Amino acid sequence: MDLDLGPEIAQFRTRTRDWIAANAPDGLSELADWNMAVTAGGYRGEELAIAARDPRYREWESRLSQARLICPQWPAEYGGQGMDGVRLAVLNEEFHAAGVPRVRRGMGESLVGPSIIVHGTDEQRAFFLPRIITGEDAYCQGFSEPDHGSDLAGVETKAEVDGDEVVVTGTKVWTSGAARANMMFALCRSDLDAPKHAGLSYILFPFKPPGVTYQPIKQLSGASEFCQDFINGVRVPLFNVIGGLNNGWKVAMTTLSHERGGAVTVQHLGFEREFWELVETARKHAKNTDPLVRQDLARAYTGVQMMRFNGLRTLAQTAQGQSPGPESSITKLLWSEYHKKLGEVAIGIVGTDALIRPDGPNYPTTEWQNVFLSARAGTIYSGTSEIQRNIIAERALGLPKEPRAAS
Ligand SMILES: Cc1cc2nc3c(=O)[nH]c(=O)nc-3n(C[C@H](O)[C@H](O)[C@H](O)COP(=O)(O)OP(=O)(O)OC[C@H]3O[C@@H](n4cnc5c(N)ncnc54)[C@H](O)[C@@H]3O)c2cc1C
Repeated sequence: MDLDLGPEIAQFRTRTRDWIAANAPDGLSELADWNMAVTAGGYRGEELAIAARDPRYREWESRLSQARLICPQWPAEYGGQGMDGVRLAVLNEEFHAAGVPRVRRGMGESLVGPSIIVHGTDEQRAFFLPRIITGEDAYCQGFSEPDHGSDLAGVETKAEVDGDEVVVTGTKVWTSGAARANMMFALCRSDLDAPKHAGLSYILFPFKPPGVTYQPIKQLSGASEFCQDFINGVRVPLFNVIGGLNNGWKVAMTTLSHERGGAVTVQHLGFEREFWELVETARKHAKNTDPLVRQDLARAYTGVQMMRFNGLRTLAQTAQGQSPGPESSITKLLWSEYHKKLGEVAIGIVGTDALIRPDGPNYPTTEWQNVFLSARAGTIYSGTSEIQRNIIAERALGLPKEPRAAS
């Protein structure tokens, strides 16, 4: 089933397809596997970083930039083209079908940019957004702390106002992509006396020494994609507080609704491809006739289709002008739980081979070992599955709140 989005969108699709064919440098799609399924194992980073240094990628990036196709959903006055959600979904689909990279600006594009657009002043938008588009600012997310993850509103990193500046001091942890970032967006406590949610501010600051140092943390898969960070009296102007002092919770909620929704209409395509690779693996291991394996595979295929239809539902909502709300927790729960289960099915299929790690430095793992190990992280980051279920129950379905333990 496909949604009929009308003749204008059909024309847009054709124009986009033609533009890609006319502008993609030869060999771009072969430089890397741009459509690989999302896993948090950390192995993709290196492959993509190498491909992104190739002159063909640079050429493509420059053509996208001239055509305002980097962060195209952002307002035209800040470097985008104000593309609506439906066209953006079509654009994603066409880039995916052509096997060419979308050239995204990471958390700058997907998380902090949308939050600045909603909660920032005109001056803040004009200053911070173009720097994300050009790649000058690459952001990492400073929400979690050693004692505060799900309990995000309890963060203790201090933000003290000193004249027209704010001074940030504290420790953040599990910071993905810290090594590639030069800026952090962080949720900090700016009023120690206010109730938990009311004393927070959302602050952007340079993520570099001497004010900031960090230590890499090794993941279960052997990769090291996140860090613990030590922030020691970093000073920034009050201009860097988005949404106003002590209004950070609202801004953080906007960030999280974007984080959990993701690229919802194309996400299933990567998972679908990975699913068929697993079917092929089952054939190689002569497990494709095993009735229990067949049941597991059928269940997995159903999971991919559920993601697809959930994506179409979101697209239909976007077409009606609705923004992502608590329903984005359904998207997050669907893909992360699907992927964890798929890793378990895959390990069952490869059998005792799963116990043997390839030789080599830095704890390498096979493809399915990596899916099995790293998919577990998907049910933790961007809010754990338990938290998503609470949100779906309480905010999407309106069920009574579960009793909270006394703190
Ligand atoms: C790969 C990866 C990348 C990450 N990247 C980042 C990043 O870039 N930036 C960042 O800020 N953070 C990042 N995180 C951190 C992530 O957001 C937190 O790990 C997550 O929010 C959970 O917090 P926690 O680890 O403190 O666990 P806790 O909050 O201590 O939870 C422990 C367990 O208790 C359960 N639990 C907690 N509260 C409730 C409740 N109210 N109801 C029911 N169950 C509950 C949880 O579901 C979980 O099973 C990343 C994590 C991972 C694994």
